[in-house]
Amino acid sequence: MALMITDECINCDVCEPECPNQAISMGKEIYEINPAKCTECVGHFDTPQCVQVCPVSCIPINPAHVESNESLWAKYRLLQQQAVVPPATPAD
Ligand code: SF4
Ligand code: SF4
Repeated sequence: MALMITDECINCDVCEPECPNQAISMGKEIYEINPAKCTECVGHFDTPQCVQVCPVSCIPINPAHVESNESLWAKYRLLQQQAVVPPATPAD
């Protein structure tokens, strides 16, 4: 599952640098998690780092993005590939 940030977020900026997948960014009003990038920290850490550091505990599981452990690992591998292999540039 990906995680999500609720409107209880106080924009403390603590979680964003902790994410190993760069899945957290500032949204319109509060921080947001990109579900395509969040692996629940699978592949990097035993526990979700953002949840560990959030002072107001506002990062629950995103019910719209329920995923198995296998699919989180697949997402992790895909993200690693994307990080290593730059996207092809279209020919002129
Ligand atoms: Fe990033 Fe991990 Fe939090 Fe997902 S659980 S947003 S990968 S720090
Ligand atoms: Fe918001 Fe929690 Fe992240 Fe702070 S750590 S910016 S309160 S989600």
